[in-house]
Amino acid sequence: FVAKAVDGMNGGGGNGAGGGAGGEGGVESPYPAKLLDMLSERGLLSFDAEGGLVLPQKLAQLDPKIIEHVFNEVTDCSGGITWDDIAGQEAAKRLVQEMVVWPMLNPQLFTGARAPPRGLLLFGPPGTGKTLIGKAVAANICATFFSISASSLTSKWIGEGERMVRALFALAGLLSPSVIFIDEIDSLISARKSEGEHEASRRLKTQMLIELEGCDPSKDAERILLIGATNRPEELDEAARRRMPKQLYIPLPCEAARRQMLMRAFRAGSDILHSLTPADLDKVVERTAGYSGSDMKNLIQEACQGPVRDLFRQRGNVTNVAPSELRPVTLRDFQMACKAQKRTVADCEIERYIAYDASFGAKY
Ligand code: ADP
Repeated sequence: FVAKAVDGMNGGGGNGAGGGAGGEGGVESPYPAKLLDMLSERGLLSFDAEGGLVLPQKLAQLDPKIIEHVFNEVTDCSGGITWDDIAGQEAAKRLVQEMVVWPMLNPQLFTGARAPPRGLLLFGPPGTGKTLIGKAVAANICATFFSISASSLTSKWIGEGERMVRALFALAGLLSPSVIFIDEIDSLISARKSEGEHEASRRLKTQMLIELEGCDPSKDAERILLIGATNRPEELDEAARRRMPKQLYIPLPCEAARRQMLMRAFRAGSDILHSLTPADLDKVVERTAGYSGSDMKNLIQEACQGPVRDLFRQRGNVTNVAPSELRPVTLRDFQMACKAQKRTVADCEIERYIAYDASFGAKY
């Protein structure tokens, strides 16, 4: 790479003055220390004769403040989500592994006709595990995981979105292999021209498509995989669909998946006891038809509060209560919780996804 000294650059990055890199403590830098460490680990940092920091050209061209903002979106996936943490979604998990994990682990096997897609779209109702799948991919290939919500690019960084996207892909390339997960991607590259769509958001959209065109997970040097997630797949435009040729439907959890979620809440090692018989479990599973994964999570949380609330009623406080003093969670706790936590996805929404899946979804 072409290196450029950035000594003296004072873009005003807030967090950390760098200096952690390469053991050259004390070097002032507007870049986050962790970023410098990561670049240093990859041999991408050096120092010039005067001890000034020399960055890869790609970064040196960008505003340190923007780099810092983008770097703040990096999630640490070490010890992160495993495939087993995702209940159900077996077919989607298998396909994602075949399609993107294997090629990232062994790029030389997946060239030519076997080349992986550069982008993957996960669509389906909210709270079904799309983000979890993104994280599991990243953890599986030990990738740097950038998780960005498109609405933060379009609203929080209004006017800066285009530069953010450029910085995002530049950083992802340098910290490769990388997974860029963009939630609500429809709002970024939708076909519909939003009412006030002005120059800045049009440029943002164009930049996003250009970057997507350029990323190629089969390239050894810059393995970047884009995973977009959306609840409104029909709003993506044709150009976006072309760049994310694989579109996977992530549906509501099936019975078996809901059962798994319930059992996991009480698995060995958890200090929450329950008195649910297999028949009780069946009732809860049946009663939660149509619940999303996150609805289930909230429901379980709510049911587990039951014993604590009871104890509070008896004693007036729970300050010094040990977990062992709580009664087990019962079917009745779940019945009460079902009233507080209803399903959040309507049947008509599901029909919409099924129709879209029939036309555009990857078959598996
Ligand atoms: P989204 O599809 O909107 O990206 P997330 O992956 O962010 O949904 O899921 C939100 C939360 O719901 C997760 O953190 C997890 O607690 C729970 N959840 C959703 N789907 C599953 C699943 N299949 N297995 C286990 N937990 C799930």
